[in-house]
Amino acid sequence: MKSKQNSFEEQPELSITPSLVMEYLFCPRFIYFMECLKIPQHEERRFKVQQGRQVHENRTRINKEYVRKKIGCIDKEISVYLSSLRHRVRGILDEVLFMKDGTLAPLEYKFAQYKERLFNTYKHQLVLQAWLITGNYQKQVNRGYIVFVRSKNYLLKVPLSERDFDETGKIIDDILEIIHSGRFPKKTASRAKCIDCCYRKICV
Ligand code: SF4
Repeated sequence: MKSKQNSFEEQPELSITPSLVMEYLFCPRFIYFMECLKIPQHEERRFKVQQGRQVHENRTRINKEYVRKKIGCIDKEISVYLSSLRHRVRGILDEVLFMKDGTLAPLEYKFAQYKERLFNTYKHQLVLQAWLITGNYQKQVNRGYIVFVRSKNYLLKVPLSERDFDETGKIIDDILEIIHSGRFPKKTASRAKCIDCCYRKICV
């Protein structure tokens, strides 16, 4: 059997997107249904994705200078598509921030309220974006930022540690292993998610 890394190098289209990681974190079986069986989700679950796209489109209405004032950003690039074969990821970043201290940082807009706790999903998403930045700009990334649109554009700073990078790396390994091997993953531990899941009728 081929190693995961070798398989990836031979099939670079298998790079992971932040949205695929979000699906995995909701339930690993989503990867099996979506990527192994090629069964698409129903449209209703895509509503949040649509909202996210709307945020992308509305982003220009937000005062572009407030980020710089608050966090010492000296420049930024907007809606940047990046891929990194080395890190096995690809995706569009809302913003890449160039900081005074010489580091770079991803900034992500969320169509959500800030609940005074950081969801793991957000942190993993920022780690993926940090890899995309380091893989393309060769600069250090040690933090990311999230703008919570439904909390008056509240800006949250998210430090990224070695442990965060390790944990996200394990998730990517697992996603690729499911895709390559066709393994049927365990059910989500949170059975409440199954109640309105679009795959519940075929998920036994
Ligand atoms: S029904 Fe439950 S276990 Fe099955 S894919 Fe949906 S969330 Fe996961």
